[in-house]
Amino acid sequence: MDKKLSKKISALDPRFRKKIEDLFSAMTESVSMLYEAATHDEKTGLYNNKFFESILEMEMEKAKRGQEKLCLFIIDIDFFKKINDEHGHIKADEFLKRLADVLKKQLRKSDVAARFGGEEFFILLPQTNLEKAKALTARIRDAIKSDKILGKHNITVSGGLTCYKEKDTKKSFMERADKALYGAKQTGRDKFVAVD
Ligand code: GH3
Ligand code: MG
Ligand code: MG
Repeated sequence: MDKKLSKKISALDPRFRKKIEDLFSAMTESVSMLYEAATHDEKTGLYNNKFFESILEMEMEKAKRGQEKLCLFIIDIDFFKKINDEHGHIKADEFLKRLADVLKKQLRKSDVAARFGGEEFFILLPQTNLEKAKALTARIRDAIKSDKILGKHNITVSGGLTCYKEKDTKKSFMERADKALYGAKQTGRDKFVAVD
């Protein structure tokens, strides 16, 4: 709260003060709930696609101006339809959440992970070149494979990795990552493919 306002409130009759303070704390809570709902995916707690795309635009601008590399990684769960059929929708949702938690653990604070619809996740890796991004995605792959729940249920993912090029638009950048993912799916799944 603003210092001046806080001073004015503390000078009030204690009954009014309490009311105003309660109102402020309810408002603050509502604003943070609204922010959470507008920017996050409810099922996994990761960012939603809308928020992700706005961060993507900002990071692309930064990469365009500076020397920093920027990579984009997309992950899609293999045969998720079959997983739903075998385990049911509720359990399959738990796998989604689990995967999101595994991803979060592997990422740095500056990385941005979002759920993009069904069983697809985008991860933006600022200040990361292709070599570093490959190392990170290898760690992600190991973490998924060795996770006690995902590993036990043989849940695998395919991934596509690419790095920003100066002429990229948001569309071309995302499409190239998607193309890499398609390559992974086409050549057997349970693998990550990088394209330059
Ligand atoms: P592929 O390896 O080619 O990616 O196969 P797939 O079955 O994962 O892909 P497909 O696109 O054919 O099916 C995706 C399925 O994901 C369809 C739907 O049953 C399931 N799905 C989408 N969103 C959700 C969700 O929020 N929760 C659950 N439990 N399932 C979802
Ligand atoms: Mg899939
Ligand atoms: Mg998919």
